Amino acid sequence: MATVTATNVTKIYGEDTVALNDVSFEIPDGEFVVLLGPSGAGKSTLLRILNGLTQPTEGTLEIGGEEVTGTRSDIAMVFQMHYLVESMSAYRNALTGALNRTETIDSVLTHYDEDDKELALDALDTVGLLEEADQRAGSMSGGQQQRVGIARALTQNPSLLLADEPVASLDPRAAQEVMQYLKDAATERDLTSIVSLHQVNIAREFGERFIGLREGEVVFDGGKEDLTMDV
Ligand code: ADP
Ligand code: ADP
Repeated sequence: MATVTATNVTKIYGEDTVALNDVSFEIPDGEFVVLLGPSGAGKSTLLRILNGLTQPTEGTLEIGGEEVTGTRSDIAMVFQMHYLVESMSAYRNALTGALNRTETIDSVLTHYDEDDKELALDALDTVGLLEEADQRAGSMSGGQQQRVGIARALTQNPSLLLADEPVASLDPRAAQEVMQYLKDAATERDLTSIVSLHQVNIAREFGERFIGLREGEVVFDGGKEDLTMDV
């Protein structure tokens, strides 16, 4: 279960950079939400708080009814820059997602078990890269690399999937394709998903629920029918 509840979340960097200002919303389990807003709106900050990478200055974020206080193994993140190990195969890269949910030194040392390997292969299958599993990540196209990044997140077997501008560095065709895989993966696995985007056209095509951020404030929260071009 991964309902997400933000209650009056404010984040101030340093003395006076207000990245988020009194942000509140509720996301039910299994929903696919697009976080939409221009650069500097506060999207990364919100996702990083959700992932436990930074703390709010005020307010609370709860996932499955528990306040977020640090990183959690059941939350996976896909980044704009996918941070793959280019010299490793797509499969090995996907498999490293399993490390993100090891909780003890022992489990890191024993590395991967059969379940992890199955999860990684399943994840590659979900993003349509089973046949490319042995290819070096560095030899793949940008879109394929981002799909490996998604597979790595899925191998973590998360209940909440976060993606921070996952298609911002791709050409429009690759961006569409990657968004389709991301959406299908979320649907297939009933994942609560929050995907940040700055392109309204891509958001419209794939989003169901939209939370619009601008200068740290929620300026829109609703469905496609109410979404105007100037969010
Ligand atoms: P977005 O992801 O929508 O581009 P960010 O969350 O990255 O927005 O940034 C929101 C605001 O907070 C911007 O003004 C940005 O410069 C500022 N900011 C982000 N991270 C930091 C940081 N680590 N230190 C200081 N200011 C930051
Ligand atoms: P985004 O693409 O999400 O807008 P940025 O390129 O603004 O991200 O920021 C990249 C990194 O730099 C992030 O870790 C962010 O927190 C940090 N950062 C952004 N703005 C500032 C700032 N004004 N001062 C310090 N760090 C910042």
